[in-house]
Amino acid sequence: MDDGATSLVAQRDALASGTCSSAELIDGAIDRHDQTNASLNAVLGLRADAARAEAKESDVRRAAGELRSSIDGIPILLKDNMVQRGEPTTCSSRILEGYVSPYDSCVVEKLQAAGAIIMGRTNMDEFAMGSSTENSVHGAAHNPWDLERACGGSSGGSAASVAAGITQAALGSDTGGSIRQPASFCGVTGIKPTYGRVSRWGLVAYASSLDQIGCFTHTAQDAAIVLQTIAGHDERDSTSIPDAVPDYSAALTGDIRGLKVGLPKECFETEGTDPEVQERVRAGIAELEAAGAEAVEVNLPHTKYGVAAYYLIATAEASSNLARFDGARYGHRASGAKDLKEMYERSRSEGFGAEVKRRIMLGTYVLSAGYFDAYYKKAQQVRTLLRQDFESAFAKCDVIATPTSPEVAFKLGEKTEDPISMYLSDVFTVSANLAGIPGVSVPCGTSANLPVGLQLLGRVLDEETLLRTADVFQQRTDHHTDRPGGIA
Ligand code: GLN
Repeated sequence: MDDGATSLVAQRDALASGTCSSAELIDGAIDRHDQTNASLNAVLGLRADAARAEAKESDVRRAAGELRSSIDGIPILLKDNMVQRGEPTTCSSRILEGYVSPYDSCVVEKLQAAGAIIMGRTNMDEFAMGSSTENSVHGAAHNPWDLERACGGSSGGSAASVAAGITQAALGSDTGGSIRQPASFCGVTGIKPTYGRVSRWGLVAYASSLDQIGCFTHTAQDAAIVLQTIAGHDERDSTSIPDAVPDYSAALTGDIRGLKVGLPKECFETEGTDPEVQERVRAGIAELEAAGAEAVEVNLPHTKYGVAAYYLIATAEASSNLARFDGARYGHRASGAKDLKEMYERSRSEGFGAEVKRRIMLGTYVLSAGYFDAYYKKAQQVRTLLRQDFESAFAKCDVIATPTSPEVAFKLGEKTEDPISMYLSDVFTVSANLAGIPGVSVPCGTSANLPVGLQLLGRVLDEETLLRTADVFQQRTDHHTDRPGGIA
């Protein structure tokens, strides 16, 4: 299956056996970037020289027997909302133009402590608001499977980079599906861990009670390694979970006999779900049953309220989080304002794109006196009901299987004029964030030559079962080895 460059594990093994050096891996990533990125627009800033220098240091460590971890010397990309000292972070927004971070995010610290080499930043929807990576001041990212189509969002650049083989791993953030949905659109594996499992220190906040960092890889095996590297308690994030991080790779036992896979009736009856997507997902579930799992019906009766509750809570939190971008503290400042108020107004009006402004307005509205009870409070009540739905379902099953997205990658421009239709594409992913539970999307085939994703949701802190199930699926199928054709 692995020809030396098709997974992180393959890269790790090639380094360990001496068949390639870190310097060669980095050159390979840069070459692949140079061949593909003009058409993909997935990578925003490549740290080519810095990465080459760091690779040399990694090769020296290897020769001296002083490796920091098994992924020492392996290239990885970051979504452009995770800060790295001395590097720009734009969140794909004009308002962060010129911003250079004075500090490292926790995930950067952890990757560097493991010796991984950060290759640069990936394109995203502005402030992670979107489902297509079209809301970017840097222009839309393109799906490597079909350049006319969106790669999903908001972490579309990371998903496309891994799909195109620029790196074998990239980090993303998932507030309402932004790892799982682009993973599904681009045919890669994407995991959103339990809320609080990975520190948000140095992740630019969108909706703080929902945001979670995770990763894109080709395989569950690779995801286990990356998650191992970035997970763990961090006292700088007050919502960080103190529990010890289990050995995720050891959890991949290859055995899911007796595992109960819950099929929520509501998710298979959702209007607007492409029948071919349904079919691939059902075939994926049949494969899990063939491996000894048992499918059981479960109910998630409040699923239909998930998108509405999510867009009220997420925008409310965003309206507060984005207040800090005022032209004074970060990035873009309007010139020539006659007083402070005008400077704030013009900086924000020039700096934020249309979707971000729409959400700040919506979020401010639902928090305002007179509307709070009807919207924000109601949405929080729905959130509790959704969490209770999952609790009851997980009394009957160990994982829940659904489509990741109701459809395959849509055409660029298809939904940009109709924000509601864009929001509806998050119907299967937002509930996991509202409940704080982990989820993974794995490729489960194609429809009209475009990837389909199978979503597996798990109990709080049970990433092990999710990864084990995804791994068994990938041992038995080869959808995750399909690669997009057509890009140089
Ligand atoms: N599409 C969702 C939104 O626009 C999710 C985004 C995310 O997970 N960052 O809010």
